[in-house]
Amino acid sequence: MPETDVKSKYEFQSEARQVLELMIHSVYSNPDIFLRELVSNASDAIDKLRIEGLSDEDLSGLAGDGRITVTLDAPGRTITVEDNGIGMSREELVSYLGTIARSGTKEFISAMRDAASTGRGDLIGQFGVGFYSSFIVAERVTVETRRAMSPEAWVWDSTGDGTFTVESGSMKGNGTRITLYIREKPKDEDAEEKDYLSKWVLRGIIKQYSDFVSYPIYMKENGHEHEEDNEPVNSMKALWIRPEDEVTKEEYDEFYRHITHDWEEPMERIVYKAEGTNEFHALLFIPSRPPMDLYYRDGRHGVQLYIRRVFIMNDCRDLIPEYMRFVKGVVDSEDLPLNVSRELLQQDRQTAMIKRGLTRKVLDSLKRMKQDKPDEYKKFWVSFGPTLKEGLISDPKNKEAILKLCLFDSSKGLRTSMEDYVSSMKDGQKNIYYLAGGTLTALAASPKLESFKKRGIEVLLLNDAVDELWAAASTNFEDRPFVSAASEDALSEEEDQVSDEEREQAKRLEDSGFVTRIKEVLSRQEGIAASIDDVKLSTRLVDSPATFVQKGDPISAQMRNMFKAMGQEAPEEKRILELNPGHPLIKKIAGESEGNNGELDLWCRVLTGLAQVSDGETVDDGRAFTEILTKLLDR
Ligand code: ADP
Repeated sequence: MPETDVKSKYEFQSEARQVLELMIHSVYSNPDIFLRELVSNASDAIDKLRIEGLSDEDLSGLAGDGRITVTLDAPGRTITVEDNGIGMSREELVSYLGTIARSGTKEFISAMRDAASTGRGDLIGQFGVGFYSSFIVAERVTVETRRAMSPEAWVWDSTGDGTFTVESGSMKGNGTRITLYIREKPKDEDAEEKDYLSKWVLRGIIKQYSDFVSYPIYMKENGHEHEEDNEPVNSMKALWIRPEDEVTKEEYDEFYRHITHDWEEPMERIVYKAEGTNEFHALLFIPSRPPMDLYYRDGRHGVQLYIRRVFIMNDCRDLIPEYMRFVKGVVDSEDLPLNVSRELLQQDRQTAMIKRGLTRKVLDSLKRMKQDKPDEYKKFWVSFGPTLKEGLISDPKNKEAILKLCLFDSSKGLRTSMEDYVSSMKDGQKNIYYLAGGTLTALAASPKLESFKKRGIEVLLLNDAVDELWAAASTNFEDRPFVSAASEDALSEEEDQVSDEEREQAKRLEDSGFVTRIKEVLSRQEGIAASIDDVKLSTRLVDSPATFVQKGDPISAQMRNMFKAMGQEAPEEKRILELNPGHPLIKKIAGESEGNNGELDLWCRVLTGLAQVSDGETVDDGRAFTEILTKLLDR
């Protein structure tokens, strides 16, 4: 007999087992959510059938009349949730209902354990873990299912004790029927558990959590065929069409959970109606924390598309720019044709208009959030700032608006906005200064900041990978150019007020031929020395003996490594070694090495190494570098 014909036993994956244990053994403050989760899955399954139907004629015939039926059998102590959606194949059944793929499960498990141990039962009420929530109220669950167009049906069966079985079934149509065998005794004698074997209780839960579900949910009671059974329990009213003041926060939050499967509340909600030639409604949300797939190329990015209240597709990327991929929600167009395809959307003029409108709306909402709820905005920024900043490169038209939303670290130890930066600019300061690449600690300690600090000029510290790309790309803010503090002539003449004494010191050293000798020695060295284009006495350094600056647009060592990792050639590097004429070490080297180029060779290696290390770079040959240092220190 082939293996698929017999009843096979499987073990749940370990995270699934832990979740199941929690469902079975802890007291859940809001057991009602089991029904919300099952209805939500049923609605998703019908969505999926519609989507597959778009590209598969055989399926399209099945997709027309999606419905969900909740059947109560009080004497038999069962509740059944049935849909005529996509169904599951045997492999899908084993993998989907034996593992947990959703993000944040680990956090969920530990939050549940904490809540259970501290008695803060209310915390866990908001959480749902999809299908597994069934075991909050059920002591046994069976899942009968048939994948659309498949000749075989299957039955999954488990008491949640660590294993489940799968065998062939007899279900006729496509879809899934989930039967919960309701636990006889409440887990906690004191807990007031609702009577889930009451039709009115079930109706109430469906109204409360699933009213907006866009397929009809029918309620049946075994043995009773009432007239009212022919009316769906849910209104199917699209939440995004209703005026904002007629919808409660709870309804919006439930809807958010329904479309994202997140168990937290969203951080922000955006309700938008565009009128005129291109009419659409949008209901968008910003999640409270970044989803796991934010940086996955094939992650679930984009919004749901409806056309005149009919669900068309999930994760529609053409309606919202890539740099706003953290935004979740629904867009419902009045004007797009119902038979639209992904290919068509890509070229459609109306789609582009919707995208422009939504982009502006999201930017506006973020602006308001930044003004009105600064603390919340900071949290937003930590989660999604790096993603939003990608727009500084990909969306030049909105560059200024995005810049106004940015929060940057600065050399003054502050989190600052562009407006704050500009308002605290020094008299005569023309440029906006930044230093990019590497860690925040390395940036904050860079010798390149010394002259800026001395002159009281603030420098933005840009440590996200994306920063260097936009900052160098001729960025302006309110007509002030961004200039890298690592570039050769960062400070303009009026900003760079050099004292007579500093000038004098530099001149003396210059006249002694010190710089010429260093250049000579460096020209014979390899490694880092080979990329040095020039040596200069600097007025930029205060406490450090040496640093590297660059000609043209500076590219950090981190950026060069990135080019290398991508197998690309970075632009040629032209470093300038700047030495601090007032620094005791430089004075000492100038004195001691006179007439002794061997000695100067060692010191040059030390100086270039120090300049690298102080910027968070690694020296080419760490061993050789430390040997030289040791030798010099030993003397
Ligand atoms: P989630 O819904 O968050 O993905 P669940 O544990 O609720 O997590 O479900 C796991 C998977 O099982 C779903 O993603 C879906 O593929 C499948 N599934 C659950 N319920 C159904 C259903 N009624 N019809 C078809 N597939 C389903």
